[in-house]
Amino acid sequence: MEDMKNKPESYWKERLTPEQFRITRMRGTERPFSGEYVTQKGDGVYRCVACDHPLFSSDTKFESGTGWPSFYDVIEQGSVETKTDLSHLMVRTEVLCANCGAHLGHVFDDGPNPTGQRYCINSVALKFEGDEK
Ligand code: FE
Repeated sequence: MEDMKNKPESYWKERLTPEQFRITRMRGTERPFSGEYVTQKGDGVYRCVACDHPLFSSDTKFESGTGWPSFYDVIEQGSVETKTDLSHLMVRTEVLCANCGAHLGHVFDDGPNPTGQRYCINSVALKFEGDEK
């Protein structure tokens, strides 16, 4: 299988929009309530915008009020990787695509049942495939 985690910056620059590059490769954050999937409710799968890897299901999406698409679980174990993020004078857990290493957002432990997790994800890092309502 192709190693998507060690592609040079130029590979992603050619394939991603500047905003997608900023979020997924430079660990950026989209403005709250600006993303196209914040209020998306249709049934489907949210994939990595950079590599198509399935990440989240609409089944675990919930309204967090934060302004970013929020999920209480990943689509399957191993879909994402996490990393401690000490930037911006906070201790957070960064969420990355397990296939290509794209920065997706952060996960917090104040989510709803059954997991108590809140995956706070940038719309820009996602590609929705399903019923758009
Ligand atoms: Fe990816």
